[in-house]
Amino acid sequence: MAMVNRKTASKKAHVKKKMVKSSDKKGSNKGVPTFLKAGNSLYGPEVIGHHWINGKFLRGANHVASVNPADLSDLVGRFPNAGGKDIEAAVAAAEKGFKNWKAVPAPVRGTVIGRLAKIIEREKESLARIITREIGKTLKEARGEVQEAIDTAEFFQSEGRRLYGQTVPSELPNKELFTYRRPLGVCLMITASNFPFAVPSWKMIPALLAGNSVIWKPSEDAPATAMSFALCFREAGFPDGVVNLLFGDRAVGEKLLTYVDKNRIQKVSFTGSTAVGRKIGEVCGRAIQVPSLELGGKNPLIIHKDANLEKAVPAAIVSCYGTAGQRCTSTGNIIIHKEVYEEFKSRFIAAAKNIRIGNPLLVPETFYGPLIAERYLKNFIAHLEWGKKDGGKLLMGTGRITKFTPYGNFLGKNPEAGYFVTPTLWENVTPKNRLFQEEVFGPTVNLVKASSFDQALEYANAHAYGLSSAIFTEDPHIMLKFKEGIQAGMSSINNSTTGAEAHLPFGGVKASGNGTRESGVWVLDSYTRWHAVNVDLASQLQLAQMDVDYGSAKSPTDFSEWVKK
Ligand code: NAD
Repeated sequence: MAMVNRKTASKKAHVKKKMVKSSDKKGSNKGVPTFLKAGNSLYGPEVIGHHWINGKFLRGANHVASVNPADLSDLVGRFPNAGGKDIEAAVAAAEKGFKNWKAVPAPVRGTVIGRLAKIIEREKESLARIITREIGKTLKEARGEVQEAIDTAEFFQSEGRRLYGQTVPSELPNKELFTYRRPLGVCLMITASNFPFAVPSWKMIPALLAGNSVIWKPSEDAPATAMSFALCFREAGFPDGVVNLLFGDRAVGEKLLTYVDKNRIQKVSFTGSTAVGRKIGEVCGRAIQVPSLELGGKNPLIIHKDANLEKAVPAAIVSCYGTAGQRCTSTGNIIIHKEVYEEFKSRFIAAAKNIRIGNPLLVPETFYGPLIAERYLKNFIAHLEWGKKDGGKLLMGTGRITKFTPYGNFLGKNPEAGYFVTPTLWENVTPKNRLFQEEVFGPTVNLVKASSFDQALEYANAHAYGLSSAIFTEDPHIMLKFKEGIQAGMSSINNSTTGAEAHLPFGGVKASGNGTRESGVWVLDSYTRWHAVNVDLASQLQLAQMDVDYGSAKSPTDFSEWVKK
């Protein structure tokens, strides 16, 4: 797992050897794969990517490079792109894995997940470093992401002892009614680039706890992180075929989805863009399945006239520019009451000018690092053009940081080594603008003026998305109106639009999601189906759903039939 940290690399290689050995004893891994080779002297070894199918690590074919977006000369690793045979093998393995795993008692499944929590905790630092190296978020954020997975595993460990059904009273005598949570089968997880560890943990851990098997197709932008996670699952001791990892691009995702139509995949859980989510929704709808769709956002942050700006401004900076704006919950529009518009604007610009950008593995003071991949950079640069045509007034931002377009707070020698872009700020934006409506997925935000709270709330709902939202106000009546009126899955009062807790439901409405939720007990509804069972102990056949004469026809208040003489 320690694919980055040079100091710990040899120790971790030893751990990995041990893991492979113990697996060999079970005969689940013929030959010892080598996962690391000498890499970049600054960042650590290069990862030799392997699919993980039916408990075996397989080198696969059509290898694609994963590079460090903060330093494109650093090759993080090469990873296979799954072909038809790999996909078929993974589905077959998951089908077999499901049969075995669902028979394991839920508390025992919870114990394996508890082991997983301890392994991730032990490896927290090396996992955080690989996340930072591969997608460029700061180490503080990456550690937080790993912690989210630990919290999730710890939460679901004990849910194994609480996978409750219900006993339900029957309308007929001598009859018992029960409900059970049953697993669904083979679950396909397709995940995004920006939370490559926490989000997959939100999906896989509850799905496994509930007795399902999993095929995971991670983002093509974060394969080394995914492989590190697979090594944690492997060490935790999940039986072969219960967790399978397939690398690949969108075409691999599409091929996997064809198994939904064949009913060989019973559940798809997807986190990513709304455009792809719609396609997945169509595929699953055709097969009468409910996918979990966690999609994009254009999250509003309202600054009411009584907002505490000492708190609101730093919160807005984190909301908009943290993780280089590449969170689904990043703020897209700051909607400000006209009475405090100018003051907020000048304080926000002053704070934004202090943002330090750099290579987060080399410069600990970095506030945000690079964009995750070239496609996000292209998209970001393009928005600067169409934003101007769209009527937005650009207050801050020059696009990519280069030696010709320098940024004063870039902490490093060569900004062109990575995909670094400046904090960007627009004004003169209203709900009619494309800038207001479209998720850019980068460090850019719009200032929007509102003449009253009612108008601010109207604006906050005037976009297609409905993921996160926030307001700064000291007025409890405004808080109440906001809570009742906002169309979003998640809302903060006097805090950022970003942030999540492992035991609170996470998800959106409208174009941000189909109503399923990640995290907490709520997510179990996504990975189980309710099974209703009745047990009839009466000596004679008694039928429900008939027009039963409850009072034995004598009188509606005659209950003698039920009362023992
Ligand atoms: P993306 O939709 O481009 O890709 C996500 C995953 O889907 C990747 O694994 C990709 O290979 C796969 N994929 C792409 N096209 C596919 C297709 N046609 N069929 C099957 N699979 C396909 O998203 P991204 O760029 O990786 O992530 C950014 C997006 O994700 C943003 O919109 C962001 O808001 C959203 N996101 C949402 C949440 C949430 O919880 N709501 C969390 C993180 C990110």
